[in-house]
Amino acid sequence: MAITDRHATTLALAHALSAAERGLAVIPLSRSKLPALRSPHHGDPHPTALCHGECGRPGHGVYDASTDPRRIRELFAAAPWASGYGIACGLPPHHLIGIDLDTKTGTDASAGLRELALRHLFTIPGTVVVITPSGGRHIWLAGPPDVVIPNSAGRLAPGIDIRGAGGYLVGPGSRTEHGVYSTVPGTA
Ligand SMILES: [Zn+2]
Repeated sequence: MAITDRHATTLALAHALSAAERGLAVIPLSRSKLPALRSPHHGDPHPTALCHGECGRPGHGVYDASTDPRRIRELFAAAPWASGYGIACGLPPHHLIGIDLDTKTGTDASAGLRELALRHLFTIPGTVVVITPSGGRHIWLAGPPDVVIPNSAGRLAPGIDIRGAGGYLVGPGSRTEHGVYSTVPGTA
């Protein structure tokens, strides 16, 4: 059954509000997984690239992220084409870090992570795992409050990306042009 755009937006908003109830700050995403709201500074004769929302208008990507249901509803109302939502990483109270295990590059990122765990003597705790439309996995971790974990791509091992401060994770229940993101049963 085809899901109409409006229905997809309503579903995405519902999932986003439920994430916000758990203390996760969210923004609406388009089908391309990018922030749904365009920068209000687009086309400015003197672009203020350093504005992170101080101008008071929406459209600053992850800087728009909020846990306030009224604000989230406003953001989605301004982006009726949104079909998903992003969860901002690195923010209190959870200081979310996402370990993004890719599968489409032909590398076995899960094996790479197990190898890192053995070599550095850490274990991955039982936590939320989100499966991506391409079969990849996002492992959610709570970071230390006093350390800023940056984003990185393939730095720890091939196919392993880290989503940290200034980054976001596509939330479970999001629809993108490649399919739906969902939690692995029993992990949410
Ligand atoms: Zn601005």
